[in-house]
Amino acid sequence: MIEIDNVSKWYGPVQVLRDCSTHVARGDVVVVCGPSGSGKSTLIKTVNGLEPFQQGTIRVDGTSVGDPATRLPALRARIGMVFQNFELFPHLSVRDNLTLAQVKVLKRSRDEATANGLKYLERVGLLAHQDKFPAQLSGGQQQRVAIARALAMDPVAMLFDEPTSALDPEMVGEVLDVMTGLAQEGMTMMVVTHEMGFARRVADRVVFMDEGRIVEDSAGEAFFEAPQSARAREFLARII
Ligand code: ATP
Ligand code: MG
Repeated sequence: MIEIDNVSKWYGPVQVLRDCSTHVARGDVVVVCGPSGSGKSTLIKTVNGLEPFQQGTIRVDGTSVGDPATRLPALRARIGMVFQNFELFPHLSVRDNLTLAQVKVLKRSRDEATANGLKYLERVGLLAHQDKFPAQLSGGQQQRVAIARALAMDPVAMLFDEPTSALDPEMVGEVLDVMTGLAQEGMTMMVVTHEMGFARRVADRVVFMDEGRIVEDSAGEAFFEAPQSARAREFLARII
């Protein structure tokens, strides 16, 4: 579903991704972890074309992301992305947040978009909050709305960049529960997270990055039981 082959990226003279290769099979969950500045956000953003890259290829569901002929807005409409900071539209109600892109990008009718949006809002347990504005919700609730909004676009895959790291600790669980449910239903997911308990429960594979390189790419269990590199062992010792 997502194939990343020999991708390198520079910001000016500084190389931030070094010959990165990995893949996410349909229905798999791949957790990306590693120290701060190792390139996790940059890598995940290259997948939906939010960050250009200079070398290598990325294909999502057969579409080449770096090909100048690829229409990135159309590609992005098929890949759900959830960031650390919710990024809901502050001036729109929860319901309008859920419907806007469906109407504008997918050209759904307002009724169809609303029905579909509310289906996902119910699924994340927030149907009663449809008339509220983002500022009237807790961080955990906002993040669940952000996930529902992404799902309402019927994405072929979901990308998450530290979706719980801006949340108060008591709200982390409700967001991870939604993500765990998605994983169990077979959503294809690439997740940057430091939540190693979650990673252990749901990751089919773990990618460990350091200084722009993919240092390890192992089955979830293997990564946690016997990390291959000294850097990954240090990282796990610090984080768990
Ligand atoms: P964190 O865990 O702190 O989120 P990360 O692994 O996601 O870190 P990235 O944000 O991908 O790391 O950053 C990788 C490297 O690229 C870092 O050295 C960072 O300073 C650099 N970088 C990121 N964005 C830019 C930018 N817009 N311009 C220049 N350098 C950047
Ligand atoms: Mg990051």
